[in-house]
Amino acid sequence: MTNQKPVRVRFAPSPTGRVHLGSARTALYDYLVARQNEGQFILRIEDTDRKRYVEGAEEELINGLKWLGVQWDEGPDIGGPYGPYRQSERKEIYQEYAQKLIDSGHAYPCFCTSERISAVREEQQKNKINPHYDGLCRKVSLEEAKERVANGERHVVRFKTPKDGATTVTDLVRGDITIENKQLDDAIIVKSDGWALYHLAAMVDDHLMKISHVIRGSEWLPTFPLHSMLYRAFGWEEPIWIHLSVFLKPSGKGKMSKREAQELNKTGHSIFVQDMEELGYLPEGIINWISLMGWSLDDHTEFFSLDNLIRDFDLNRLNPSPAAINFSKLDHFNGLHIRNLSIDDLADRLLPVFIKAGCQADLDKVKKITPIIQERLVTLDDCIEKAGFLFKDEVSYAPEFLIAKGLDPATSLEILNNCIEILKPLPEISAATAEQPMRDYVERSGYKAGQVFGILRNASTGQTVTPPLFETLEIIGRDKVMERLINARGILTKYTKIEGPGFIK
Ligand code: GLU
Repeated sequence: MTNQKPVRVRFAPSPTGRVHLGSARTALYDYLVARQNEGQFILRIEDTDRKRYVEGAEEELINGLKWLGVQWDEGPDIGGPYGPYRQSERKEIYQEYAQKLIDSGHAYPCFCTSERISAVREEQQKNKINPHYDGLCRKVSLEEAKERVANGERHVVRFKTPKDGATTVTDLVRGDITIENKQLDDAIIVKSDGWALYHLAAMVDDHLMKISHVIRGSEWLPTFPLHSMLYRAFGWEEPIWIHLSVFLKPSGKGKMSKREAQELNKTGHSIFVQDMEELGYLPEGIINWISLMGWSLDDHTEFFSLDNLIRDFDLNRLNPSPAAINFSKLDHFNGLHIRNLSIDDLADRLLPVFIKAGCQADLDKVKKITPIIQERLVTLDDCIEKAGFLFKDEVSYAPEFLIAKGLDPATSLEILNNCIEILKPLPEISAATAEQPMRDYVERSGYKAGQVFGILRNASTGQTVTPPLFETLEIIGRDKVMERLINARGILTKYTKIEGPGFIK
């Protein structure tokens, strides 16, 4: 770190919508920087725009970040020495600082009506000039302005942007950015209702909250010079500025938009953290995925836990290039992290998924199932497709289901019979007890393993695909397996009598 100040970073979302992976990534990077520098991570809710305020958004945000494991040290829910941490509770602070800027000649009240602003714009457009405020109220003297404000005249406060020269601002990832001052407008920093806009409110808060690194989305790059200028106008030391890369649509063509996000939901994918949780993704998988959307350690390391990230993450290795959202990568990482969990941990997470799907599951049984499906899960929800059948008391199938590929009913029945004979004497059916005798039978009989095990599998589980067969049979239990096999034999015997033993469909 070039900056010697204690590390204090903040995640400053506006509660205007749902928590998507862009916000999750910013919060994650903040968290990592704080943890690796023994600094503080602050959650600040930027809720001054009451028109865009969404009820419940703050709660979703807090729950989503907690679920991801990205915990803050100061915030509206836990307090801290620099509160309040909700901007709606800091109105007077912003007014005080706006006044300071006015008094020092860096800002001015602007009394222009919206009608006048529109007329100026129209004129500028007609003359092919970029629309901007023409500076009429810059010329009003401070005394006159004060008097008009005291008389209650409706006004906004604008920042007095220098009109000559150029300003250079520095982003840690992108280096120096220089902009001609004449390209900058006199931005509004306080609205006519007295509420500060982001430009002022966030800068004041970042300063007062002693933020050392501002990590935020690249949508703030266009107004970045204004933000630097505000710091300089106050005479404050600037934080280290970091603007993260944008996310592109999965196709790689174009920025990820709100509408696009809604479209995605129809395809079974989502960029919203809460949805991802519901789809059965692990926080560990999501963290790993988003950590690499804009950062890399090297050109080959891709498996990261939160602890590894705290060790390895490096702001100097951020990549400013846009990153396309790649859901197969998410699946890949999620699978890796599922396989990385202990059986007990994974079982704990699978239990509620089974229960939600209506299975009569208990932790003991799920602990038995977990090892045989762990390798095969991409999301937690996959456990239903892979092992939901293990909770069914009964299986049902048509006779054809018991006939092996390339064999007739009579031969399939003969195989089924032999399976019963081999398994019957065993006190329990497991890989250790049943696999070898069954393989010996395959050898002796000359039938293919796929045919013999297929019949055994279909008859005893009612499925054509299962986790490893003998482990599956062990979970179903000897008695139930035998009962199903005998029942299947009845079905196939009846069928053979009706259709004839050599009948092949
Ligand atoms: N409230 C702003 C947003 O949600 C915060 C930007 C920042 O991190 O400074 O986009």
